[in-house]
Amino acid sequence: MTAQYQDISRAKSAELFEQAKNYFPGGVNSPVRAFKSVYGTPLFIERGDKAHIWDADGNEFIDFCCSWGPLILGHNNEGIREAVAGQLDKGLSFGAPTRLENELADLILSNNTYIEKIRFVSSGTEAVMSAIRLARGYTKRDKIVKFEGCYHGHSDSLLVKAGSGLVTFGETSSAGVPKAFADETIVIALNDKAALEEVFRSFPDQIAAVIIEGIPANNGLLLQEQAYINFLREITRDNGSLLIFDEVITGFRLGFQGAAHYYGIRPDIITYGKIIGGGMPVGAYGASKEIMGNISPDGAVYQAGTLSGNPIAMTAGIATLKQLASPGFYEKQEETTRQFVQTLRAFIAENQYDVQIFTVGSIFWFAFTTQTSITRADEIDPQSMEKYKIMHRALLNQGIYFGPSGYEVGFISSAHTEEDLDITIQAIKNALSIVF
Ligand code: PLP
Repeated sequence: MTAQYQDISRAKSAELFEQAKNYFPGGVNSPVRAFKSVYGTPLFIERGDKAHIWDADGNEFIDFCCSWGPLILGHNNEGIREAVAGQLDKGLSFGAPTRLENELADLILSNNTYIEKIRFVSSGTEAVMSAIRLARGYTKRDKIVKFEGCYHGHSDSLLVKAGSGLVTFGETSSAGVPKAFADETIVIALNDKAALEEVFRSFPDQIAAVIIEGIPANNGLLLQEQAYINFLREITRDNGSLLIFDEVITGFRLGFQGAAHYYGIRPDIITYGKIIGGGMPVGAYGASKEIMGNISPDGAVYQAGTLSGNPIAMTAGIATLKQLASPGFYEKQEETTRQFVQTLRAFIAENQYDVQIFTVGSIFWFAFTTQTSITRADEIDPQSMEKYKIMHRALLNQGIYFGPSGYEVGFISSAHTEEDLDITIQAIKNALSIVF
């Protein structure tokens, strides 16, 4: 046991948080930000640059939360900033089509063999909610199947056993979801073929879609086997149901074509969010021309948005995706992450600590366990979150910002330098020696 680090000053953040509690439930506009499951009050962030952020007390951190994933190019990326600044002179919103929507769509569709048409919305939640409506409208069926621990945003049908913020706060489903809605959502465990076969036997011709996160990353990182994903593709096709990949996290993170390409699987509908808007509010869903033909105004499935395709957000998306489409971008990201994880794994093995680092692409997750494979939400021991809490505090005190819950994954951006990662590795080593 090494000495604890002195706690950073949070006086200004604490003051702002007290103020915020007068305005917002729990003092925040999104629950996990409240730092309820880690030490101390949330840090109010003033600014970010590259891989670094600064809080209201002037503390500097190397950031691995990256706004929960969107900032694959880090903070204050020059290309995005200049493009957005240029667009600002031309107006904020028109509620009419712009060439920018075409440009972002073309960038995506001409580099993606898994979808043929796309519709832009303003968040991941909206993208998935719309994808579900599309699946229901297309198949003329009502029920959907989701997996325990997968989070698909906060729309009614999907807030059932939904991981992430919910599990952090000890509840897995939300109050306020009508029973009739929840009844149409069948929840089963991941990686359980028999359970899904049983669902299709019990509800013949009633399942509109099976939805899975490209790689489940909202309840820890639950890496699935290729064979299981192949099985999902086959069983949905055999039963006339659609397979939806929710790629709000994995889209443009696991390569430009996301998890669909990673598995070599063609889902029927794919949803995007986070990176697609480069830090601005953008979501999207896409599918074949045939399926997308069901969306209004071509088809009978209605979906609309005052700010959909917002010019500033489209500009940020274009500036982001252009950089991601450059040759070698993802190879470099993955190699950087691989080395980071490998160095830490060697240290963990040397010290025989009971902690694993699960990783894919530039995503990583620390799990305080001896299990070397975790594919389902119920395989995570909630007790291990106490260890995360200790690690989180020790990291913040050394200037490293991880997500404020042990169920959240970390992200490496292209702005993380070798020096940033070396500093982080040392800080994690120190933190683990406090935990164990
Ligand atoms: N789907 C997945 C896989 C997500 O991780 C999230 C958010 O974390 C969402 C959907 C919802 O996206 P948003 O928070 O933009 O509404």
